[in-house]
Amino acid sequence: MPQADLLLSGGRVVLPGAEDPVEADLALAGGRIAAILAPGTALPAAERVAIPGLVVLPGVVDAHLHLGHGADISRPRTPSDAAQETLAAAAGGITCFIPYLLSTDAYEQVLPEVIAVTEAGARIDFSYHPIVSTEAQLAGIAACVRAFGAPSFKIFLNNRGGEGKRLGLPDIDDGFLFRLLEAAAAEGGLVCPHPEAIEIAFVLRDRVRRADPQGAGGLAAWNATRPPFVEAEAIRRAGYLARIAGCPIYFVHTSSAEALAAAEGERVAGGRVFIETCPHYLTHDVGSDVGTLGKINPPLREAADREALWRALLAGRIDTVGSDHVHRDLSAKEGGIWAASPGCPGLETLLPVLLSEGHAKRGLRLGAIARLTAGNPARIMGLGAAKGRIAPGMEADLAIVDPAARWRMERSAVRSAAGWSLYEGWEFTGRVVHTLVRGRFVWREGAEVPEAVGTGRYQRRRLPPP
Ligand SMILES: [Zn+2]
Repeated sequence: MPQADLLLSGGRVVLPGAEDPVEADLALAGGRIAAILAPGTALPAAERVAIPGLVVLPGVVDAHLHLGHGADISRPRTPSDAAQETLAAAAGGITCFIPYLLSTDAYEQVLPEVIAVTEAGARIDFSYHPIVSTEAQLAGIAACVRAFGAPSFKIFLNNRGGEGKRLGLPDIDDGFLFRLLEAAAAEGGLVCPHPEAIEIAFVLRDRVRRADPQGAGGLAAWNATRPPFVEAEAIRRAGYLARIAGCPIYFVHTSSAEALAAAEGERVAGGRVFIETCPHYLTHDVGSDVGTLGKINPPLREAADREALWRALLAGRIDTVGSDHVHRDLSAKEGGIWAASPGCPGLETLLPVLLSEGHAKRGLRLGAIARLTAGNPARIMGLGAAKGRIAPGMEADLAIVDPAARWRMERSAVRSAAGWSLYEGWEFTGRVVHTLVRGRFVWREGAEVPEAVGTGRYQRRRLPPP
């Protein structure tokens, strides 16, 4: 082959289909993986980087997060919003992400500006999932798919009885859900419902808050207002309607054993079902000593739910792990459990949690981590032709990690605008050393690469056929 731009030598590489990494050198050229070589192969290269002791994983494709500006989590408003949160992503080995885009305007109008603002600041590649809440947005499904390559749509099933007002969104109903499923199916799209039976959650919330107006019950009280059956019921309903409409469905932030069973039931019944969970449901529960920082929706559950999610992850029954990153700062967590805003940051810790709590502690194989964080989300979300695997011809998006490095998460090291982490004080085994996007370092030797700002590019997606 002609000269490589970069030769990564002396490391171990996680290849598609393998459970464990193998010793190999990687030649990168033109932003792509040019060759996977026997260790020590002589090859002309413009730059050589030795990575002994390190493991090369496909860069993480985070299919669940929220970008915004200040307390607003609808979309980035300035290039610096994108630059800051993509620094957090690069630090966490994330090379491409797909935030949920929230608006009440038609997305044909919103997307050009949001893409331009994000490209001006982003250090990693990105796409967007539109959140569909209005008739005009429903009418624009075909345009999103065809003109923008954005074929995955979120719907907040809990936006009823005024629940959406917190995010400035109108109510929807099951008729609207059904029409979205039909419209997405007709365009080869995918629907990602936020599953909550909110009318039932309202009943439970009123009961719990009457008994505990100050919120002394903390995370357990929050969980009691929207318990697992509220999540599971909505998964069954949406999964059933998706089967009727012939639409694939992706269940975001699966948090409980009951919700997991409901989603797997829809899969067994013949639905094209994808299941995502998030790091915090694997590491925290209602007994965790994190106060309102642990207020998340769906709530943190019981220890038994956490362990059920680990068992499913280890058995390959969960498809993806997404961060559900929210960048709001600590001021959003004031005022007690009832007033605090839900959500937590997670871009920096998604991969470290899986390396430390999964690989080091529970024997989750590095090949499984590559599938959960890169191969599966890339394929399911329509990026699989170029991203998610380390193979010749694929884009050179890489997370290079030291699986044995021990480190401690400190608040002072958080790069997200959130400025805090659920994992402060945690000891991790496994650290991200370098992150490359299309062959360029965006995080190098554990440090920022300033020139990476503005190099991330919008990714048009096309979902794989059934
Ligand atoms: Zn979310």
